[in-house]
Amino acid sequence: NQGIGSWPARRSRSTPQATALVYGGRTTTYAALHARVTALAHALRARGIDPGDRVAYLGPNHPAFVETMFATHALGAIFVPLNFRLAAPEVAYMLDDSGASLLVHAPENADAVAALEAYAGARIALGAPGAGDEAYEDLLASSGADDDPSRVPAVDVPVAASDPALILYTSGTTGRPKGAVLTHDNLLANAINLLVDVDVATDEVTLVGAPLFHVAALDQTLIPTILKGGTCVIMPTWDVDACFDLIAEHRVTWMFGVSAMFAGLAQSPRWSGADLSSIRTVMSGGAPVPESLIRTYQERGLTFCQGYGMTETAPGATFLRPEQSIAKAGTAGTPCFFVDVRVVDADGADVAPGVPGEVLVAGANVTPGYWNRPDATAAAFTDGWLRTGDVATVDDDGYLTIVDRVKDMFISGGENVYPAEVEAVLFAHDGVAEAAVIGVPDERWGEVGAAYVVARPGARLDVDDLRAFARTRLAGYKVPAHWHLVDDLPRTGSGKVRKPDLRTMTDDPR
Ligand code: AMP
Ligand code: MG
Repeated sequence: NQGIGSWPARRSRSTPQATALVYGGRTTTYAALHARVTALAHALRARGIDPGDRVAYLGPNHPAFVETMFATHALGAIFVPLNFRLAAPEVAYMLDDSGASLLVHAPENADAVAALEAYAGARIALGAPGAGDEAYEDLLASSGADDDPSRVPAVDVPVAASDPALILYTSGTTGRPKGAVLTHDNLLANAINLLVDVDVATDEVTLVGAPLFHVAALDQTLIPTILKGGTCVIMPTWDVDACFDLIAEHRVTWMFGVSAMFAGLAQSPRWSGADLSSIRTVMSGGAPVPESLIRTYQERGLTFCQGYGMTETAPGATFLRPEQSIAKAGTAGTPCFFVDVRVVDADGADVAPGVPGEVLVAGANVTPGYWNRPDATAAAFTDGWLRTGDVATVDDDGYLTIVDRVKDMFISGGENVYPAEVEAVLFAHDGVAEAAVIGVPDERWGEVGAAYVVARPGARLDVDDLRAFARTRLAGYKVPAHWHLVDDLPRTGSGKVRKPDLRTMTDDPR
């Protein structure tokens, strides 16, 4: 097995007694992780999981996420982690699109699971099993899991490093989410880039506080930490107080977060008194970070680094080293070690310093494409370079600054929102004739959605009703925070909504 599904076994061989995972009061050594992963892999194989099959996971961060992922990879199958904040129809779409034949789910997502109609695969419940579920712990026990890997027969399935490992759903400007495929090689390449830039150590204690279904938490924290044999302290969901407690209790040495998480810590009444002495580095990514926030951390003696990337690049594309984080604040740094980056104009020529252009990325970390979407895959690449849809300038020292996006997307609390997806839901409402959504600045979340809606002739629209309608079909963070009922939308000659003009529109006085 040349994939990451072999890592628990390899780790168990070299550092069996080191702590791999901490969750709640429970710790799991690498030997125990290997034993549980192997037992689970046998159980999944007995339920028909073959190489290339898809195994989905729906739930907050939990050791079972890690075990299910490695067991899936031990079998050469593909792991499909789903955002546990999604609404039931969004989950149903992803299970169907990926063709998942097994779903592991947490009690927090019971409603979404109960609403699944078309899904016919096996279901494994982390909590009390409902009708049609098997219980996760029973499955492990029946398969012989105990803390001694020597008592569980090895799983022997050939897996190539170029095989797909993950399908990660990213929404798109076309409305429907697409599954970005990442191979074992993609994950390894990103992990090596990170080891080069951040020096993840064997005695690292990594706080996993961002959601593992996102490429950032999974590939920027958990996977490199396991590669090095460090400890992952897993938080179920983000919580400022729990974060302070876990840092002090487990002597956390590094953590990854989005800007909103680091702002939350710095604004807490506990910030000034908290014991953060164990922390070596904090790392932010996924959205721009205000310079003032970087300074707040550096004034505490904490090293602050940040990265730019995307799901399709597994995810690191560029990295701003801690030494440069004040001198080059506001920039996204330079390309990660094995990543090649170009910034090009509309003709595909490299731009001069200071001139904006689209960011292109190539490297062993870049996705081979989208699941079952050859057209979307072809559209995403130019001469082998991935088109990011992000616009950047490059300075004389080669530092990139992300200045804009070609794609219609905004980021709310670290989660990407694609207006096209929200607009498609609003169009489905009987009373809606036209709808457009934009991101507007927000103190707490960075950006939130603002919807501009035109009623059908004769229909009376009610904002509470629209909001509730959207919420049953979309994750809460995608539901617009601001609503404007207007008479019509500003459009270009070709009929496209002129989104920049929406910002200056006032509400219809009715
Ligand atoms: P995702 O695929 O969810 O990881 O989102 C990737 C997108 O987030 C990128 O294409 C950018 O638009 C945005 N993004 C990620 N990192 C940064 C950053 N450091 N600064 C600005 N935008 C970022
Ligand atoms: Mg993101």
